[in-house]
Amino acid sequence: ERKAALDAIAREVQACRRCRLSEQRTQAVPGEGHPDTEVVFVGEGPGQNEDRLGRPFVGAAGSLLEGLLAMVGWRRDEVFITNVVKCRPPGNRDPEPDEMAACAPFLRRQMEILDPALVVTLGRFSLQTFMPGDTISRVHGTTRPIDPATGARAATGYAMYHPAAALRQVSLRETMERDMAAIP
Ligand code: SF4
Repeated sequence: ERKAALDAIAREVQACRRCRLSEQRTQAVPGEGHPDTEVVFVGEGPGQNEDRLGRPFVGAAGSLLEGLLAMVGWRRDEVFITNVVKCRPPGNRDPEPDEMAACAPFLRRQMEILDPALVVTLGRFSLQTFMPGDTISRVHGTTRPIDPATGARAATGYAMYHPAAALRQVSLRETMERDMAAIP
């Protein structure tokens, strides 16, 4: 039932034209993973490779995330991975507030179906969605209550940097490894 419900949302996302991000996308990227998982990772938005393949966290940032997951004995198909916006912002710019608001119902419905125990936010836009008011440099590697309006009613939030940030700034990689090792 969960898989069927998630697949139905994915089909809606793939056809969605609710915001301007639909205009330049190649494919929307609904997210993927195990429908019965207790752990959901949420990033910012698709990049170039994700837009081409229609899958989240492929390419270099995806490899880094998979390596971090392996550190704690998880495979990507055992968790669920998605983004705050499901279509690529042109040139990998930041998503605009109205674009995040337009896409929020999809993420909320995914959370309501998955009902996870843990939501791991990757980067500041995901952090601001689930645990508004905190900054990533202050709260990475720590747990926080989640705003229940996100649909993740019973989940604890855990903040991490975005893997793409660790690709740009090598020193963040160790920080991300420490944070992943401490994941609750
Ligand atoms: Fe629709 Fe979200 Fe894509 Fe905007 S980003 S077109 S709301 S799926």
